[in-house]
Amino acid sequence: MNSQHLKSFIRCKRKAWLDFKGKKSYEVWSPQKAIDKINQFQIFSIFCNGEIYSGLKACKNGYQGVIGLKIKGNFFQNINAEIRPQLLVKTKGMSKWGPYKYLPAVYKLGHKTTKEHLFDLAFSSILLGTFQESKIEKGLVISSFGNKVNVEEIYLNKKLRKKVLNVLLSLHECLEGFMPEITQDRKKCTICSWQKFCDKEAKENGYLTDIDGIGAKTALLLKTNGISNTQTLASYSEKKLGEKLSKFNDQKYEKASIFVKQAQAYISGKPYYIFNKNNTNDLLEKKFSGFFIFDIESNPDDKHDFLYGFLKINNLFTKKEDLVYEPILNLKNNKVESYRQIIKILFSQKEWPVLHYGETEKIAIINIAKKLNFSFEEIDSLTSRFIDLHTLIRKSWILPLKNYGLKTVSNWLGFEWVQKNVSGSKALYWWIQYQITENEIFLQKIIQYNKDDCLATFKIAKYLIKNHLKKN
Ligand code: SF4
Repeated sequence: MNSQHLKSFIRCKRKAWLDFKGKKSYEVWSPQKAIDKINQFQIFSIFCNGEIYSGLKACKNGYQGVIGLKIKGNFFQNINAEIRPQLLVKTKGMSKWGPYKYLPAVYKLGHKTTKEHLFDLAFSSILLGTFQESKIEKGLVISSFGNKVNVEEIYLNKKLRKKVLNVLLSLHECLEGFMPEITQDRKKCTICSWQKFCDKEAKENGYLTDIDGIGAKTALLLKTNGISNTQTLASYSEKKLGEKLSKFNDQKYEKASIFVKQAQAYISGKPYYIFNKNNTNDLLEKKFSGFFIFDIESNPDDKHDFLYGFLKINNLFTKKEDLVYEPILNLKNNKVESYRQIIKILFSQKEWPVLHYGETEKIAIINIAKKLNFSFEEIDSLTSRFIDLHTLIRKSWILPLKNYGLKTVSNWLGFEWVQKNVSGSKALYWWIQYQITENEIFLQKIIQYNKDDCLATFKIAKYLIKNHLKKN
């Protein structure tokens, strides 16, 4: 077992087991992991003033920063382990290499130092201490905010070392045993490389956490009331279930009805229409006039929207080939020029609604309008044109799906992205690659991805309008 297994184990026992024993062909490449690695290297490089080298030779030469070292050893009796410290940082001391020694360091994304960071450092210190023949008292957690590198010193005391030894023993036991159950907290699965593999099993076994809105706590509550899978939930009385869901207070009957219908839809594969006369009014009024579809690609860590994509649709029946897509790149953050272009497009058809999926786009427009010194009334009138299809679809339909994300809903409607296995994280990965290489091919990939996001949103708009008409 190694540092990666320990990291996975802290998040999800099953993930550690799959990393160790799972069939690699079931694992999907994670852009998030790749982005983390790139960020990590850039920050380590700044921290070590560019003096980063790889492998054992770098330790022997006494370079300031060392990456890519794998150290094997026994951490307890005869249990073999391997550490792969993210970074070793040279410091004062005596080691087998001379009058210096190394401390382990880890990269932290965000503000919070977690168990994952502490255990990683403590595990590294146990094997590294023996390997370099010099005791390690502390480790470093390195992060960056804006362009500033932040370093936190962590004292690796006896208590922490003991804790990590216990976790390592549990990890060892887990890796030797059968595959653990799927985690109760399915939020962890969203960025996991084994998600597809686990989703399939969860669906086959009728896991309650597959039902939109049911998290670990609600699933447990349902189980203690004898509802242990989606099949039982689907055939349960809505009224009886409402009585058991007192934690939702006034909303208990409404929640119960949604959970039961969601489970029925999930099993039958058939959508359920929620009648509400206001559902699609805004859209219906405009269906014969035109509208825009708007979608943004951004780097949340840098608070940088790097692409704004517009699809102009003259009417609902416009053919795909006649649609006009306009991408506006914002290569340097806060470029007023791109903001003016966006406003120009939006005002080229002052009456057209702007359809988008999720709240990001509306928030971005409010910020842009503020930066361009729009008055309160102007901002209000502009944003009143924005229609969030994500909110609208959730209000008017219960779909036979696990979630209501753009990809999930539009895939269900038969939409396919031109590029395979894409996601917002993949677009961000391409953006980071573009920043490093300045190769235009990455921009083309991002633009194609954004165009498809707009077309997927269009597909959902068509579904909403056409099916609303049929139902009313
Ligand atoms: S998809 Fe979820 S349950 Fe499966 S290994 Fe990943 S985190 Fe664990």
